[in-house]
Amino acid sequence: MATDPRYAPLFEPLRLGPVTAPNRFYQVPHCTGMGHALPRTLAAMRGMKAEGGWGVVCTEYCSIHPTSDDAPYPFAANWDDGDLANLAAMADAVHAHGALAGIELWHGGSYVANLASRVPAIGVRSMPGRTDPFQSQRMDRADIRRFRRWHRDAALRARAAGFDVVYVYPTHGYLVWEFLSRSLNDRGDEYGGSLENRARLFRELLEETRDAVGDRCAIATRFSANGHGDQHLGLDETRDLMAMLGELPDLWDLVLADYDEEMGSSRFVPEAALEDRIRDIRSLTRRPVVGVGRFTSPDTMLRQLRSGVLDFVGAARPSIADPFLPQKIRDGRVEDIRECIGCNICYAHNFRGVALRCTQNPTMGEEWRSGWHPERVPAGRGRVLVVGAGPAGLEAAHVLGKRGFEVALAEAGDAAGGRVTRESRLPGLAEWARVRDYRLGQLQRLPGVTLYLGNRLNAADVREFGADHVLIATGARWRRDGLGRWHARPIERLTGTVLTPDDVMDGVRPSGRVVVFDDDHYYMGPVLALLLARQGAEVCYVTTEGKAGDWSQYTAEQPRTQRELLEAGVEIVVNRALEGFDGRVARLGCVYSGRELECEAAAVVLVTSREPDDALFRELVGHEGEEDGSRITRVGDCRQPAIIAAAVYAGHKAARELGGELHRPPAARDRVIIAPGR
Ligand code: ADP
Ligand code: SF4
Repeated sequence: MATDPRYAPLFEPLRLGPVTAPNRFYQVPHCTGMGHALPRTLAAMRGMKAEGGWGVVCTEYCSIHPTSDDAPYPFAANWDDGDLANLAAMADAVHAHGALAGIELWHGGSYVANLASRVPAIGVRSMPGRTDPFQSQRMDRADIRRFRRWHRDAALRARAAGFDVVYVYPTHGYLVWEFLSRSLNDRGDEYGGSLENRARLFRELLEETRDAVGDRCAIATRFSANGHGDQHLGLDETRDLMAMLGELPDLWDLVLADYDEEMGSSRFVPEAALEDRIRDIRSLTRRPVVGVGRFTSPDTMLRQLRSGVLDFVGAARPSIADPFLPQKIRDGRVEDIRECIGCNICYAHNFRGVALRCTQNPTMGEEWRSGWHPERVPAGRGRVLVVGAGPAGLEAAHVLGKRGFEVALAEAGDAAGGRVTRESRLPGLAEWARVRDYRLGQLQRLPGVTLYLGNRLNAADVREFGADHVLIATGARWRRDGLGRWHARPIERLTGTVLTPDDVMDGVRPSGRVVVFDDDHYYMGPVLALLLARQGAEVCYVTTEGKAGDWSQYTAEQPRTQRELLEAGVEIVVNRALEGFDGRVARLGCVYSGRELECEAAAVVLVTSREPDDALFRELVGHEGEEDGSRITRVGDCRQPAIIAAAVYAGHKAARELGGELHRPPAARDRVIIAPGR
């Protein structure tokens, strides 16, 4: 189909200094958990974005020197000529599809501990690092001169590797930002004091980068549009700085100082949330501006361009969830866009030090290793019965249908979506329904797939159906006995109103004082506590960890989770486990001393662990389990209860590989290979 003429402005080329971006879709720098450690994986992933139509595709934070070593996180590296081949692999993969390749040169300053390189961290002054017990070394004038040389050399290497857009990065708490900060920068030399002095290093880097590579590369800079808080660089100084330096770079990549807000999850931050703050600052430069906002709607994107807020639609997450988003808009297939749900599972896994993954896009990170393409699947033939239409079953049916299988998808409930449908009704999780809606939308266009709602199948039904393959995707249920991380055995004395998250999601509403016991540590405990508090219960949230929703530190949600509970009047009790409940009193034991305290409660909600719902699978295959290449296999939570992304991935993998070779070679391994003779 042709491009809707309304969206034509999104496909207009735009000049950036000496280069021209083919359209307005700009994949801003984003972490991948791949960096220097998985170069082939990274190049293939970035190349896929270019293939999908992103006009500019950037690296993640790319360290320019061993004094900026963010180990154990796999940052990108541009330390010496030995990095050139890996960097070029990415630039080449992006160029192969006509896009521009951007590189975000980065120095972490006092933020990074240099755990691997073991050289001293350097900063505007000596100060504690972000996490580890160290302080940086104050930079002397000679250090500043050296740093500028490293930056220039890195820019030259970037150009040699083929990059078209080279960044200067004075934001997000890193080295150049330290110099801008009026609190951190206490220098008495020409780099401290007035704004002009504090911005001297930033200016020098912009000018020196242009001098080094500006003949062939556009110079971009990533800068916070909302200042950095008054103690660092207030809005007034931010405006003054734009007035001073506004025309120096070829592109302003405007962000927010606070990562957690800039890339806030959909629980807390809606689409296009940066718009107002960017509008103000962008008016101070005539140079093009890119900004993000978890844009998935082409109309919102268009509004950003039309209203003059942005010249490029920036994206990290929407490009992860759908590398082919631009192409789908161009081809008039807007309804095929796989919209990001804002869960931040992508970011979380970078934070865990492994390759990116995505709830919506199971092929993310598997482009090179498994040869998975987000839009293409191998053809196949046969009749498949998929039991259960949660995220695993829906994804499996979708992929099988695309491959050409005849698929019957049986769902016991009267709605599809499984846990996603139930959880998306909880506070802040509405966008998660996109996991279901995208797949249902695709299934409707696949004539070979039939969805049977209200069909709870037993083993006899499955056998009678006589499919060539059966995928069991029957999910999991929350346990009612407290077994989980803390309790290896069921809690002994549990009487009275003892509820599970499934009960609450089914509409059971305890009143009076309720203890929510969270031994799961992700979103479910806090979100249920919030729901119950909003419904009028007096809620006491108890967790075996030291913070509410502790694991959500990885999804950048933890501080807001805790704040939201406090604001809702929820009492938060940390480092305690529920040890018993007699219907009136809950006993809460300290996880360190074992000392118990009593807490009056009318009900307890146990958010501890889930039990795979594999009864149907067991009835069919017994306790021997499935052999390789079995006709009956299980996927998703009924095999291994985990996050939604894992269920979608499992459904995708099973469906993609179904009917293939029985003993396929393992996925390729990306690794550093020792060159002969070294
Ligand atoms: P997953 O995350 O693995 O997809 P979910 O719990 O979200 O798991 O979804 C499992 C789905 O399977 C639910 O919608 C549930 O109603 C359905 N289901 C469970 N048992 C049966 C069965 N015997 N027949 C049909 N559907 C079933
Ligand atoms: Fe969006 Fe979640 Fe995918 Fe990240 S993991 S891109 S937030 S859907």
